[in-house]
Amino acid sequence: MDGCEKDHGEETEMKSIIQTERECYICKTPYCEDHHIFGAANRKNSETYGLKVWLCPEHHRGKYSPHFDQVLDGELKQMAQEKFLETHTFDEWLEIS
Ligand SMILES: [Zn+2]
Ligand SMILES: [Zn+2]
Repeated sequence: MDGCEKDHGEETEMKSIIQTERECYICKTPYCEDHHIFGAANRKNSETYGLKVWLCPEHHRGKYSPHFDQVLDGELKQMAQEKFLETHTFDEWLEIS
């Protein structure tokens, strides 16, 4: 899937609460692949609350990516939690994570 078709100004989906620039979270490459911090059953929550980051293909699907590297996955979740708790309660966090 290629998610690059989105125009500026069209707000059909929730923005990331973690990043403002559309660039790889890890290496800053300008790119636009969405990574939902919580996949599977909680993917919808990731979307609703903007719990996602942008990643380049290498850092999204390569060896050093949250889909393969559990440490990195954990770091992203930790970081998302801190961001989320700036505007929500811990109970809400437990409900969505
Ligand atoms: Zn990258
Ligand atoms: Zn992903």
